[in-house]
Amino acid sequence: MNMISQLRQRVSEDGAASLNIDEFNRLQTEWVTRAKIEVLPPVARECAWGMDDGDPDSGSMWNSACGQSWFFYEGGPEENNQHYCGNCGGKVLLPAQDPTL
Ligand SMILES: [Zn+2]
Repeated sequence: MNMISQLRQRVSEDGAASLNIDEFNRLQTEWVTRAKIEVLPPVARECAWGMDDGDPDSGSMWNSACGQSWFFYEGGPEENNQHYCGNCGGKVLLPAQDPTL
């Protein structure tokens, strides 16, 4: 039985539990291990966005590769701090800047 389960059992049976330093260290290691599993960063993925219609100076509609659309009244995703797709969570990939602009 792992230390977390042992501690839970002791507390549920006796209402409280004390730990020696070895048990504490085991408990800490188990919690850190669990935390790493549970807080792993989301799978790194990207979501390509492209401007569908409009002018960045007067409002623009953007479509994402995952099938959603967003309208910005001013600027585009970058100017509106949309660095991650609100639908799929991927990092927003914007089209290369048009060199003629
Ligand atoms: Zn997306």
